Amino acid sequence: MKILSVNAGSSSLKFTLIELPNREVVASGLFEKIGLPDSKYTIKYNGEKIVKDRALEDHSVAVSILMEELVNNNIVKTLDEIEGVGHRILHGGSEFTKSMLLDEDVLKRIAKYNELGPLHNPANIMGVEAFMKVLPNVKNVGVFDTTFHQTMKETEYLYPVPYEWYTDYGIRKYGFHGTSHRYVYKTISEYLKRDDLKVISCHIGNGGSLCAIDSGKVIDTSMGFTPLAGIMMGSRSGDIDPSIIPFVMKKTGKTAEEIVNDLNKKSGLLGISGISSDSRDVENAANEGNERAILAQEMYAQKIANYIAVYNNMLNGADVITLTAGLGENSKNMRKMIIDRIKSLGVKIDDEKNDFRGEFRLISTDDSKIPVYVVPTNEELMIALDTMELISK
Ligand code: AMP
Repeated sequence: MKILSVNAGSSSLKFTLIELPNREVVASGLFEKIGLPDSKYTIKYNGEKIVKDRALEDHSVAVSILMEELVNNNIVKTLDEIEGVGHRILHGGSEFTKSMLLDEDVLKRIAKYNELGPLHNPANIMGVEAFMKVLPNVKNVGVFDTTFHQTMKETEYLYPVPYEWYTDYGIRKYGFHGTSHRYVYKTISEYLKRDDLKVISCHIGNGGSLCAIDSGKVIDTSMGFTPLAGIMMGSRSGDIDPSIIPFVMKKTGKTAEEIVNDLNKKSGLLGISGISSDSRDVENAANEGNERAILAQEMYAQKIANYIAVYNNMLNGADVITLTAGLGENSKNMRKMIIDRIKSLGVKIDDEKNDFRGEFRLISTDDSKIPVYVVPTNEELMIALDTMELISK
């Protein structure tokens, strides 16, 4: 069966066409600058690559063109081969505790959370509506970034603020990257043939979050009410003292929104290094002796190590630590910097085993108290698997 896994942004639409159950990627691609003058798209399949500049007035036009290309290039013989479309949806609030078949009513319920994910949710919904229009007979499934974290207890998801902020405005920790953490947990528990694992999952890419998981249930996660909280990231600050915001507002005359924008886009590795939010640039500068790049890397590694120590405590001793996403999968240097900062947990990295990128591997020594694995994430596959399950019911 072929399933399309879709991630729609406000002006983009990313897709992967996956054959299940053998998990083969049949085609993948990206429609960019939808609704803007210089829109274009790229489709990769079978070693071929299509790149075209073409007017993409809206998401429905992009979906129609995608369908045309799939048929014209014989990627599918007829559109009937596409049995389901799975959509990444950022925010399902506290209401959505698992992936869902989508219809107009469910979309209306999801739209209630647009306010909590204003950059993503309306765009995700637009993507679903485009597929409903172009492929009216194909079932759509919503896979939320927030659902995996819905098992957290009140003690973890509440903030110690006036309780009415929670009851009146829904202010609580929601957590994000849930699909990635869930995929990593599933992969490592299948590999180790255990469904009772206590895992500290570290998703460290441009955005980053850690997650403490016990037997498939999330105990705690580092992102919060929004994806700005937790560890230091590429351009996001992670946790800071909230009093900094009104203080800097007074000093600079900026609005609260402008300061939050600085915390989202001008902080993290970029803010400290002054060079880039891309860890490769920061790493290169650090290797050349740039002091702020070295400082940025040290801070970055330390914040992650601190969260690992806290989560090890919450799990009463983790069985496994996993690293994934851009840096976790590819940066042997950052992996080493992090693991070297959790020596107090008896965790030790094996430099020879750590010398690779982009694969599933054990990177800790035989006598490391907690084994550390690199587990490449695959959110697209997780979305496709959920879709297959729901449409087959
Ligand atoms: P993601 O958001 O998961 O795509 O991760 C993006 C981050 O991963 C960026 O900061 C990249 O610099 C980083 N990254 C990707 N490849 C490498 C690499 N080979 N070495 C170091 N960092 C990398």
